[in-house]
Amino acid sequence: MADTIFTKIINKQVPADIVYEDEFCLAIKDINPQAPVHLLLIPKKPIAMLSTAKPEDQALLGHLLLAAGKIARELKVDGAFRVVINNGKDGGQAVFHVHIHILAGRPFRWPPG
Ligand code: 5GP
Repeated sequence: MADTIFTKIINKQVPADIVYEDEFCLAIKDINPQAPVHLLLIPKKPIAMLSTAKPEDQALLGHLLLAAGKIARELKVDGAFRVVINNGKDGGQAVFHVHIHILAGRPFRWPPG
């Protein structure tokens, strides 16, 4: 897949506010936050979309969800937060390097918009 801005952020070629990093992923503050806490949890492996992930990505995808919970605990928002994966242009995806939005710090309605 083509490089996106997230590859440059992962490679530290473009600055970002990194709040978490491990061997497999990093979490940065979203540049256009939609909640008081709005992080993007990005795997270092460039997978374009959730729907193009492969069976061999199973452990990585599980790692991301566990990391999301860990980050929420560290930020003390684990009682109320939302995770979102936009998939595809009409699903709201703008950056085609799969990522998990972690949003917290305000009430969230259901169904989502
Ligand atoms: P998507 O719409 O693909 O699910 O989410 C992409 C997110 O990336 C958006 O919320 C957007 O604000 C964020 N974003 C785009 N470019 C940058 C950037 O250069 N730095 C940071 N920190 N966030 C970005």
